Amino acid sequence: MPIDLSTPPVPISFEVYPPRSEAGFPALHETIRRLAEVDPRFISVTYGAGGSTGGRSLQLLTHILHETHVEPLAHLTCVGNTYPGATALIREFLDAGITSFLALRGDPPTGSSEDDRFLGDLESAAQLVQLIDRVQAERSPYTEAPIPGVPGAVRVERRRRVDIAVAAFPNGHPRSRRAGDDVEALLAKQAAGATMAITQLFFHADDYLSFVQRARGAGVTMPIIPGIMPITSPARLRRVLELTGEPLPSELSIALEIEPAAEGQREVGVAHASRLVREVLAGGAPGIHLYAFNNHDTVLAVLREAGLLDRPLHKELPR
Ligand code: FAD
Repeated sequence: MPIDLSTPPVPISFEVYPPRSEAGFPALHETIRRLAEVDPRFISVTYGAGGSTGGRSLQLLTHILHETHVEPLAHLTCVGNTYPGATALIREFLDAGITSFLALRGDPPTGSSEDDRFLGDLESAAQLVQLIDRVQAERSPYTEAPIPGVPGAVRVERRRRVDIAVAAFPNGHPRSRRAGDDVEALLAKQAAGATMAITQLFFHADDYLSFVQRARGAGVTMPIIPGIMPITSPARLRRVLELTGEPLPSELSIALEIEPAAEGQREVGVAHASRLVREVLAGGAPGIHLYAFNNHDTVLAVLREAGLLDRPLHKELPR
């Protein structure tokens, strides 16, 4: 279905992850530069549960902050952290100039038991939302910046309030006990102060659209941005199903399996993701968040095939 170009521009965002070592930074910086060219509303950077990638996440976020015009959005997880530890971490990110967060509970380390003892002091993402809000509220409401050429003079500015996003699960979180849990959990995160939700990947537009409808019915008013992942090989499909617990999308799975060449599989993934983009936008999605896997070519191909690079993109999300 072609997109009507007279409709308002669409806010786009991307997710990347920090490189495994310092050596991975140069290639990732080039990817960031290429993603920034399409003027996304933000680029988010994942955070290894338990702090495993914390330093490199912040390094990448500050690169986005200083080297591009794009808003960096920091994922933060609660897993395994104490209150003082989480508070210090939030302060460190705020001090570095990061003002947008995605507050997550995080997953237990592989091999840990299924109960919640792995969590540490914070038990849910909603509690982390409250903590981020509290830590920012305790800071001075003003910042001081030196005025170039005027020794000793400072410019006083009101500090920007932080934006706190949270995760949403259109097909249910693997640990949810009943169907309504995920809408209730999202409502709790909104009540705690979250202002936007980004969804787990899904394979059918109806999964997202019906979830949004249920969430609206329950009183969730914040924008719910669909998270879309181009699946470009059978191996990637297996890996994400394992990580997310999503049901197997049989049509996509068969299309990937019968295509022998890697380039052909990539085309299958791009076509599937761009169809999803068009369908969720036609259903009223307020933006598109693309899981980029630290590669710009594929996500930009998805946007191009969905017709979104032919018109100006919009940086602001409707409130
Ligand atoms: P929560 O909202 O605390 O809970 C998850 C689910 O548990 C709820 O949806 C609900 O089903 C159930 N639940 C929670 N509270 C209740 C309740 N009171 N009553 C009943 N049920 C309840 N992980 C990382 O480690 N690093 C990352 O950078 C990262 N980025 C992510 C980005 C996105 C967009 C998404 C969707 C996930 C990401 N994850 C990341 C994975 C995430 O940490 C896991 O999915 C985790 O298991 C759940 O996190 P949450 O913030 O949704 O947790």
